[in-house]
Amino acid sequence: MDDQLAERLAAVDARIADAARAAHRDPAGITRIVVTKFHPASLVEELHALGVRDVGENRQQELTSKRGEVGPLDGLSWHFIGQAQTNKARAVREAASVVHSVDRARIADALNAAGTPGREVLDVLVQVNLTDDVGRGGVSPDGVVELADYVAGLAGLRLRGVMAVAPLDEEPARAFERLAEASARLRSIVPDSDWISAGMTADFPEAISMGATHLRIGSAITGPRPTRG
Ligand SMILES: *Cc1c(COP(=O)(O)O)cnc(C)c1O
Repeated sequence: MDDQLAERLAAVDARIADAARAAHRDPAGITRIVVTKFHPASLVEELHALGVRDVGENRQQELTSKRGEVGPLDGLSWHFIGQAQTNKARAVREAASVVHSVDRARIADALNAAGTPGREVLDVLVQVNLTDDVGRGGVSPDGVVELADYVAGLAGLRLRGVMAVAPLDEEPARAFERLAEASARLRSIVPDSDWISAGMTADFPEAISMGATHLRIGSAITGPRPTRG
């Protein structure tokens, strides 16, 4: 077991608790997802032994192979946080408990069609693009209600909330404010879809202060990512 891993995890959790307290929020209402992308499956096993129950991956192939490698780990949820391609929807649905990155009707349809009627529904979030660059993942804030309305009509999916990545060239708190507004609009059509997935290594305290319920934290916990060839 890597002692430093346990130390980094504890240090991040302490910072989460501090930020929650400062925002007058209960830390128990915040889910910390450890982003394990680029790292070997053994890291997921180590994290699980340390009590981690939520991990995140951003590529379907890596998610599928890592999940197969570690086998069933008690209570572990796999979150898919990357750009989803329609032709990979079936594989994503098989491996993930939650998909954070639904940003168009087509991917919602593909994830919905990949389910089995009568079986478990898939938790999904609508990804919101907080940048001006339309090439980035996510629906524009103006399009959130229309997409959410569409997703809410699909029987195999359960709309849980919104997700975003803060732009690099803006104060994260300002960007997360727009995400909180998008969340409010989404709750006006699906009242209990109150998850806000936001906050990474560089900006999770700001995300907590703006209401994030799900943090996606990688390198602050895992250490630097190995480069991928
Ligand atoms: C990699 C990644 C993260 C985690 O990034 P860190 O800066 O390592 O915390 C969070 N969200 C998404 C969508 C990512 O791709």
